[in-house]
Parts: sequence; structure tokens; C-alpha cells
Amino acid sequence: MVIVIKKDQGDQVGHIKQKAEKLGMQVIITYGAGQNILALVGDTQKIELNQFEGLKGVEKVFRIQEPYKLASRYANRVDTVIEVCGRKIGGDHFTIMAGPCSVESEDQIMETALKVKEYGADFLRGGAFKPRTSPYSFQGLGVEGLKLLQKAKEATGLPTVTELMDHHDIDDVYKYADIIQIGARNMQNFSLLKEVGKCDKPVMLKRGMSSTIKEFLMSAEYIMSEGNEQVILCERGIRTFETHMRNTLDLNVVTAIQEMSHLPIMIDPSHATGRIEMIEPASRASVAIGAHGLLIEVHNNPMEALCDGPQSLTPEEFKVLSQRVKKIHQLMKEELA
Ligand code: PEP
Ligand code: MN
Repeated sequence: MVIVIKKDQGDQVGHIKQKAEKLGMQVIITYGAGQNILALVGDTQKIELNQFEGLKGVEKVFRIQEPYKLASRYANRVDTVIEVCGRKIGGDHFTIMAGPCSVESEDQIMETALKVKEYGADFLRGGAFKPRTSPYSFQGLGVEGLKLLQKAKEATGLPTVTELMDHHDIDDVYKYADIIQIGARNMQNFSLLKEVGKCDKPVMLKRGMSSTIKEFLMSAEYIMSEGNEQVILCERGIRTFETHMRNTLDLNVVTAIQEMSHLPIMIDPSHATGRIEMIEPASRASVAIGAHGLLIEVHNNPMEALCDGPQSLTPEEFKVLSQRVKKIHQLMKEELA
């Protein structure tokens, strides 16, 4: 249920929040441009709309029909902008996260981090816990990898994003990462989603490879319903009948999410295509359609990568991509303004 408070009567927000809490609801407040919105979460069916409709300051009361509520566009008409170490994600900001699929060694992460920083990345990505299809493949360096990522952050100033696969590692990942990534394979690991929902760090939630957009938003809702509203969505390609690419990039998800939700939506063209030559064109299309950012795999020496080498750009390839997408973003900002 959503209660919209009149523009000039923001002082009523506290009273109405209290009343809803007395009725057993969790209340999430959004102070939007010119409007204050209270989203009531809980068993709202036991509440009648007219319990709030007549109250001073209330403009409108309505139920959200969608099963996702906090993630829904109705809960917040203004785009959510998430600030991490002074960098903004969402709204009209465009964010590039880049780095290797996995952290492999100090030299590898340092060299790659310095390059992606030089060429325009805003965040450094790098997996320490890797979800590999084969149990015999490199599984990541674990905590050692997190420490190296931290070192690379200190050297470059780039905040980090890294995947949490198992709730046993949450304290370590929380300690070292600036954004906690939940991978495609865990998008519906509801207990893991609840765990990250309880922490106060932004979460980048990747779309499951066979998940619908609704299921994607329901997973975001799991995180948000535990109190963590800092969710960044990331499309990374879905499974279709097509085998030419590693996955099929569903660009429509950007438009759909922006209509259905207020959360930032990024694109990972590296996993979505799995092919070097397709990553930069897919990135250009992602900016043009309005994505809030890109997650790009870059390796200082892709031929030697222990994970996802065939889809890892060299730093120089990344430089070209970065320059081009920034130009398109700037152009679009000016056009739309
Ligand atoms: C990754 O980002 O390296 C990764 C494993 O992604 P996904 O979960 O989308 O497969
Ligand atoms: Mn990867």
C-alpha cells in the first residue's frame, strides 16, 4: 500500500508513519521531488484505504497490485540513485565497472586495475569466489583474492564489486567489498538474498539466466524487504535457443525495468555475448537504450586468464569502449535535456 503525502504537508509524514506502524506495518519513506511517499509493507490486506484517506496531509492512498512492492515504480516515482564512495549509480549517471572475471594474482589485479582506472572505469570488478560450471576449474582465491582487491582499491582509489556465493563468506565479502554482487546462479537463492538484505552495503543483483523480469524484481524485493534498499540490477544475458553467443542479451529489460521499477539497471555485455567482438557494439546499444551502466570484463593478459579469457577485453580494447560509450551518454544527456 502506498500513501502519498501532499507536497506542502511533509510535517504529517511522521504522524502517518506512526499510525501505520501501530497497525503492524513496516514503513519506508521516499522524499521525492515535490512529493513524500510512504510505502507500507506487511499484511496490508487487513487495512482499509479509508483508514488513511481522510487524514490531514494525505493526497492519495492506493494498493500496489504487483507482487514486488518496494522495488516497484509505484513505491518511488523518482529513480533511485545509489552513492558508493562518492560515486553515483542510477538516475542520469552512467557508471562503468571493469576488471577481471577473477582475481588471480597481485600483478594481474594491480596491472588491470591501474589500466581500467586510467581508461575511465568508476569501479573495479574482480571475483574472489567464482561460480564455475566445473568443480575442477579455478574456483577463485577466496579471502586472499579479497585482500588483493582491497590492495588494488588502495592503489587506484576505485571502489570494488565482488561476488558473494555462500552466506558463510558474508563477513569477509562485507569487510572488503564496496558493492556485493549476487551472481546469476544465485538470483533465487532466497536465504542468501535475505542475508544481504540485512546488511548496509549496496548489492548488485544479476539476472538469473532463465529468469523472467518479474522474478528478477521479486528477488530484488527479497533484499529490500529485509531493509536494504540499495539494490542495483544487472542484466547479463539469458538462455535462449541461440548458441552463437554465450547468452542472449535482453536489452528490452532496460525499458521494462525503468517502467516497472525505480532501481538502477546495468548491463553486463561480457557474459551476455561471451565474444570479444560483440562486447563494444553491445555496450553502445546498452547506453543508447538507457542503461545506467556497464559491467565489463578486462584482463591485462586475456590469453592467460584463468576464467572467462575469451570474453575479456585487453585494457586497450576497454579504452576504446569506454571513450565511445561516454560520448554516446553525453550526447543522449544533451539531447534529452
Ligand atoms: C561474473 O560476473 O563473473 C559472473 C560469474 O557473472 P554471472 O553470475 O552473471 O554469470
Ligand atoms: Mn566472468
